[in-house]
Amino acid sequence: MSGFRSHMDRALEEARAAASRGEVPVGAVVVGPDGRVVAAAGNRTRELSDPTAHAEVLALRAACAAAGSERLPGHDLYVTLEPCPMCAGAISFARIARVYYGAEDPKSGGVAHGARVFSHSQCHHAPEVYDGIGAAEAARLLKGFFEGRRDG
Ligand SMILES: [Zn+2]
Repeated sequence: MSGFRSHMDRALEEARAAASRGEVPVGAVVVGPDGRVVAAAGNRTRELSDPTAHAEVLALRAACAAAGSERLPGHDLYVTLEPCPMCAGAISFARIARVYYGAEDPKSGGVAHGARVFSHSQCHHAPEVYDGIGAAEAARLLKGFFEGRRDG
């Protein structure tokens, strides 16, 4: 499990890069069955003028394109913040095996809060979920970003 922390560190790097672009600092990484990173992305909703350009969606798109498949069985997704309902839906559709997330998101999350997408009877594939990985750093980035925006 030594890759475990390093994959979340990579996701946190993507979150920091997103913040530097003026985006909400959330980063995601998709890891293949062999433990190698196949895609990494940060939020780009402002840059792309695209409300669906969340880190998870962008990472899934890149991983699926690389795999030549709309499904990623045996792949894991690391994301710095609890996925929203849209991303949770995309994660389910992609048949991701395990989701590791950092900070919880009581306001907009859709895994442990709100729609609880993976627990819904309509959800045909629920990944294993591990929360709280690197949560303190993920939350610190988000807090700093939103405080900065208030000041500016
Ligand atoms: Zn999302």
